[in-house]
Amino acid sequence: MEKLLAFDCAAFLVMFVLLFTTITRRMFHGKENRIFLATLACAFITTLFDSLSIILDVYVDTNNIAKYISHSCYLFFHSMLIMIYLSYIISLADVWHKLKKNIVHNILLPIPMLVATLSIIINFFNHKLFYMNEQGHYTRGKYFAILYIAGFTYAIYGICFIWANRKLFRLSRFCALMSVFVLVFAATFIQMVMPDLVIEMFATTIGLLFISTIVQKPEENIDISTGLLNSIAYSIDVKRNFSNEKVFDIIMINISNFHSLRDIIGFDGARELLKAVAGKLNSINKATKLNLDLYYLGKGKFRMTIDEDKRERSSEIAEMINSALQKSVDVNHINLSLISYVCITRCPYDVDDYEILMHFGDRFTDDTEYSGNVLLARDLFKRERYDLFNKLDSIIENAITNHKFQVYYQPIYSTKEKRFNSAEALLRLKDDTYGFIPPDVFIPAAEKSGAIHRIGAYVLEEVCEFIASEDFPKLDIDYIEINLSVTQCMHQDLASQVLDILEKYKVSPDKINLEITETATSHMHSVMLKNLHELTEAGITFSLDDFGTGYSNMQRVATLPLKIVKLDRTFVNHEDNEKLSIVLENTVKMIKDMEMEIVAEGIETEQVLERFADMQCEYIQGYYFSKPIPKNDFIVFITKHLREAK
Ligand code: C2E
Ligand code: MG
Ligand code: MG
Repeated sequence: MEKLLAFDCAAFLVMFVLLFTTITRRMFHGKENRIFLATLACAFITTLFDSLSIILDVYVDTNNIAKYISHSCYLFFHSMLIMIYLSYIISLADVWHKLKKNIVHNILLPIPMLVATLSIIINFFNHKLFYMNEQGHYTRGKYFAILYIAGFTYAIYGICFIWANRKLFRLSRFCALMSVFVLVFAATFIQMVMPDLVIEMFATTIGLLFISTIVQKPEENIDISTGLLNSIAYSIDVKRNFSNEKVFDIIMINISNFHSLRDIIGFDGARELLKAVAGKLNSINKATKLNLDLYYLGKGKFRMTIDEDKRERSSEIAEMINSALQKSVDVNHINLSLISYVCITRCPYDVDDYEILMHFGDRFTDDTEYSGNVLLARDLFKRERYDLFNKLDSIIENAITNHKFQVYYQPIYSTKEKRFNSAEALLRLKDDTYGFIPPDVFIPAAEKSGAIHRIGAYVLEEVCEFIASEDFPKLDIDYIEINLSVTQCMHQDLASQVLDILEKYKVSPDKINLEITETATSHMHSVMLKNLHELTEAGITFSLDDFGTGYSNMQRVATLPLKIVKLDRTFVNHEDNEKLSIVLENTVKMIKDMEMEIVAEGIETEQVLERFADMQCEYIQGYYFSKPIPKNDFIVFITKHLREAK
């Protein structure tokens, strides 16, 4: 008997550690985490009564009442345990909403538990489940099998459920969930053959330990800075909701000035700010008593999901959140005002697709003026626009095969030579259904899908074909600037691809200039640097595009082999801000001192043009001269200017 106590004590200790670590790891968010916590608590209480019962049996001869109570509690919690575990599995699959509608399931499932509980209560009077023999030892009675049948019913149901829903679980989850049943069945079998060997709880504990380490991984699902569920959990939950045809609401909370606040208060301060916002959301969640799932997706974006049966309270909760976030937040004694957009999205009515939902969640603040009111996704949602995002991959593929891409050229004016000395090649995509799709939309999609490499090659071929054509030498254009995206820069074969195409059209390397962005240079990736140096050695020059938009790093600018820096148009148009003008003038001076040339982009007026000419900026590009135009129009445009200059 003492040996058995060792098994139980071990189980008790492991359960204690599991429960303790689960609580200290703050795994309360999300239904499945809460139910797992309940499973652990129930298992802990079961091992407690199990050990207590054995201690009473071994060390106390009399006091049968205490023994009856302790054994009954053990049996009750033990029966409960498998039912809670079953609930946990159902939560992991997230099909409660479907089961709730299944009357047979609702009536039949509680029956074994009710029968077990009743038998345990009645046993106080009829001693048919178990009794204390004359020596005061615990002895199983005639009807003890009732408890086995009840447990067995749930176990079989659980196994069938996991099997039927195996597509919803990853293999590791599937194995861990099944392992509990396998271990408990094995232990029960051993216990049936050797009734004195009470190792069932020990086996259960080992199974729960498996789940704790394999299934319940808080690091994967919890955001450390806020303690809320993270973007991975959000993606899993939302995708599962869509595939399970669930009806649910999402309250989207985007703090649109998060980045600017972070610039003011620093990264540690930003973490404090996020914590404060998470705290507000948590207390609203508590006040509603609905235990809703809260997520932090990064970049100041919070989400709250509300299941179908609680949806009538969505507006009320969104209003509560909205007014809580309109009050300023104190971080490190700085009083911060948030610009927080709160929007209710009803799924699947407003959005029924994960990708579209994510795009919408990222962008709904872009075109929406801040009003301070709760927004409704149905008012903001432009179906075609998000449909477009969803179909971009096939639109791009279609454009590649059916030659729907077209290269436009925007002339660049040399202030010194007073002529158009170069041009930037800019890609255009016209789709039959969606019309012109801006490069800002299709380039990121092509980068994600990998199509950018084929698109990049197409642009380069088009440009080289143009340069090699008879028309080009007549235009007196020194070189054409071609944009390279970040992923292109990271490609192993970029240098050889570019050089092969130049070779194919017999185009001299000094006829092209490649534009790379600040984002690409910020990666400072070895492949990117290798590409850059190889191409530079081959005689191709580089421009740094969009300078002044990101975190302009002068060290990078100084160390990379760049010929030209292109000032972004958002940086250029600041004539009314005196301090920014000082920054601009000094930036121009600094770049010139480093012996690099400057292209001022986005010049739309004569006034701005003159300002840059005064600053000795070598090149000007912008609508003032011309928008990007098709090749033939470009030829006409330049020819006309050449003629006028004569
Ligand atoms: P970018 O390289 O900075 O190109 C300049 C953008 O500013 C172009 O937008 C051009 O039409 C626009 N722009 C030029 N002057 C003015 C002006 O005076 N006012 C205003 N409001 N805009 C002006 P576009 O053509 O829509 O291209 C957007 C971005 O898409 C480009 O920015 C570039 O990063 C990317 N892109 C375009 N074509 C390609 C390509 O072939 N390959 C790659 N990788 N990216 C491309
Ligand atoms: Mg560019
Ligand atoms: Mg640019």
